[in-house]
Amino acid sequence: MVHNFSAGPSILPKGVFLEASKAVVEYKDTGLSLLEMSHRGEHFVEIMQEAQNLVKELLGLNDDFKVLFLSGGASTGFYISALNFLKTRAGYIDTGTWSSKAIKEAKRIAPIEVVASSKDNQYKHIPSIPSDLEGLDYLHITSNNTIYGTQFQDFQALKTKQICDMSSDIFSRPIDGSKFSLIYAGAQKNMGPAGTTLYIVNQNHLDKDIRDLPSMLDLSLQIEKKSAFNTPPVFPIYVSMLNLRWLKDNGGVEAAEKRNAEKADLLYAEIDRNSLFTGNVEHKDRSKMNVTFTLSQEGLENTFLDLCKQANIVGIKGHRSVGGFRASLYNALPLKSVQALVEIMTFLEQSHG
Ligand code: PMP
Repeated sequence: MVHNFSAGPSILPKGVFLEASKAVVEYKDTGLSLLEMSHRGEHFVEIMQEAQNLVKELLGLNDDFKVLFLSGGASTGFYISALNFLKTRAGYIDTGTWSSKAIKEAKRIAPIEVVASSKDNQYKHIPSIPSDLEGLDYLHITSNNTIYGTQFQDFQALKTKQICDMSSDIFSRPIDGSKFSLIYAGAQKNMGPAGTTLYIVNQNHLDKDIRDLPSMLDLSLQIEKKSAFNTPPVFPIYVSMLNLRWLKDNGGVEAAEKRNAEKADLLYAEIDRNSLFTGNVEHKDRSKMNVTFTLSQEGLENTFLDLCKQANIVGIKGHRSVGGFRASLYNALPLKSVQALVEIMTFLEQSHG
């Protein structure tokens, strides 16, 4: 068994891969591969509908929310969110690389204000949200910072609209949808394979006349066309649907939250106990999805990586911009993979500490 700690694209349940691979050869008993079917035919329309319903059901969203599966990655979401919501001025919380990229894209459209940032502290914590957000079109946050390993532990009810990039922790815990006007997330962590991006939009918060929008980037138009203005990414949507079914069959986001907490607690406990390792971020803001840490003794990196390799542990290297190590604990990662990693960390301390 390979223990896959990759940050994304990342682990999905084996059963999902098996079922997806069957559909590539032949979808149900149609004599056709899913990949050669019309996206307007009954089979794919059903898949899209089920995927959209599962998103709403799992997150407990009411009918004000519309679910879209677009393409372009969350990186296009940075721009789409601003295009559809930014009129005169918006607030952004800067918690690292992905927020900074969201800020850069939004600035192309109108002025934005960084209302809080943890940049001065090398993004080692989540700054608090200022109480005075008056006059802002919305506040943008990144719920989980995949590279630095920090995470908003909860979401505040704000007087202003709230937009959230939830790419790396969506479906990892329950959320209160009523706090958000827009949630967007690249699929390739907890939802499915790379190639589609989830947009959850409160349709009552959209202003259709905000500006003359290019069709593909126009959320109102995409809602009107039921997420099929053009040919949608059929295969990533199908695999996402299978994975969301798996999540539902395994107790939904409530059960996922418990499993994720157990995995994260086990790994953080070892980081704090083991004299060779140090966690990168402030305890209160630690991410349950991406655990970042370093070796406190120089020269042991390659030994640790070799031991990981021997134990079939992959994807453990930190992001190239920050170095160190990162263990991503997405929904499909079993507890035994974390146990295997902890064993290696303990062994390293016993043999080299
Ligand atoms: N936001 C976050 C929080 C991410 O982790 C990532 C990718 N890892 C992105 C945005 C960018 O996503 P994409 O590659 O789908 O554009």
